[in-house]
Parts: sequence; C-alpha cells; structure tokens
Amino acid sequence: MIPTQIKFAPDEKTKGEQLAMTWDDGHRGFTSLRTLRDHCPCAGCKGETILLKSYTPLPQPELPGKYKLTGAHQVGSYALGVSWGDGHATGLYTWEHLRSLCECDLCISGTVEQQVQQ
Ligand SMILES: [Zn+2]
Ligand SMILES: [Zn+2]
Repeated sequence: MIPTQIKFAPDEKTKGEQLAMTWDDGHRGFTSLRTLRDHCPCAGCKGETILLKSYTPLPQPELPGKYKLTGAHQVGSYALGVSWGDGHATGLYTWEHLRSLCECDLCISGTVEQQVQQ
C-alpha cells in the first residue's frame, strides 16, 4: 500500500496543519502534524530494544517548532522522511506506519475493516 498523493492542508480541529493523503487503494485520509510528531518512529522518540533490553527515552522539554513541519521528502520507495521546526529530522515514516496513523472518520471509528491486499 502506497500513497499516490501527499499534501499539506489546514487542520480546522487543531488549528494547525495536517497531512492529507490519497492511497493507491482509493482511501483518502489525513493525519494532523501533532499526531505525526507524537508518533515519530525514530529511536530517540520511541526508544529502542537492544539485546532484549528496552530503552525508553527521557521526556524531552517541548521546544518551539516541535509540531511545525519544515520539510518532507520521500525515502526510497517505502517511507517519508520529515524534518521539524525544532531541528528533529531522524524520523522515517514507512507507508504502513503513516496509514496506521490515519485520522479520518472511517479509520478513527473503526467501522471499516482494513482490507488486506494479497
Ligand atoms: Zn483513514
Ligand atoms: Zn523522532
């Protein structure tokens, strides 16, 4: 599953911006930048497991610009790399991860069974 279009749009709910995505299965969804940043998959944000020992990062003070997207670029054919206003740019969002963060009404309410494409 890959997005065929990714663009930024104003987000009325959070008064910020959101990522609007169209997927190759026809799904149209969106994810607020706040959600995107809060689910940054990099080791510094999420922690990592090394030799079965989990490392949990210490809570970081919120810097200005944390939820401001300053750049985005496709990484290979599998992920989106984004940089943020506080200088953070190590998060790579795979398409799968992006899709799981979809906040459209259908995904949030869970009324649509995610169809697994074989
Ligand atoms: Zn959705
Ligand atoms: Zn991160």
